[in-house]
Amino acid sequence: MGAPGAGKGTQAVGIATHYGVPAISTGDMFRDNVKNGTPLGKQVDAIMKAGDFVPDELTEQIVADRLDQPDAQGGFLLDGFPRTMHQVDALDDYLDKHGHSLDAVISLDVDPEDLIARLLKRAELEGRADDNEETIRHRMEVYTSSTAPLLDAYKSRGLLVAVDGNGTVDEVGARIAAAVDAKVGR
Ligand code: AMP
Repeated sequence: MGAPGAGKGTQAVGIATHYGVPAISTGDMFRDNVKNGTPLGKQVDAIMKAGDFVPDELTEQIVADRLDQPDAQGGFLLDGFPRTMHQVDALDDYLDKHGHSLDAVISLDVDPEDLIARLLKRAELEGRADDNEETIRHRMEVYTSSTAPLLDAYKSRGLLVAVDGNGTVDEVGARIAAAVDAKVGR
C-alpha cells in the first residue's frame, strides 16, 4: 500500500521475485483490458482516466479470478488491492474460504512533495492516461480518504510493515525485503 507514486508497482515486482510469488496488480490488469479493448476495459477506461475507483464488486471479482490461478496457490503479492474497506472484507472472505491468510501488509511511505514530482516524471516516461496534474491530485485525495484508513485496520491486526519509501529503487527494495523477512520470520 502507498500513495500514488510511492513506488508500489516497481517494488511489487522486486518483492514478488524475492519470495518467488506472482505480483498481482489490479491497475495492470485493468490497463491490459483497456489496451485490448475488452468489455471490462471499455467499462473501466473512463473511470481510470478520471482517477476514480473501479467499482468494488468488479475489482474483487478480477482479483478472486486471478488468485484462483495455479501460479498463485503457493503465495502471491497484491499490488494496489485492497483499496477500500469493502475490498478488505472481500479479500478476508476469499482467503478464509480457501484456508489462506495474509502474512504482511507493506506500506510504502514517501514524502508528499516527492510524490507529485515522481508522477509527473512517470507521465513523461510511460505516458499513462491518469498521470496528468489534475488527475494526480484527485487520486491523492481518493487515496487519503478511502485507502489510508485501511492502514489503521491492518495495523491493529498486527500485519502492517511500514517502510520508508524515500531513496533509490534498490535501497527501498532492500529495506522492504529486510522488514518483511523479519516479519514473516524468514
Ligand atoms: P494503480 O496502477 O494501482 O495506480 O491503479 C490505476 C487505477 O486503476 C486506479 O486509479 C483505479 O482507477 C484503478 N484501480 C486499481 N486498483 C484498484 C482497486 N483496488 N480498486 C478500485 N480501482 C482500482
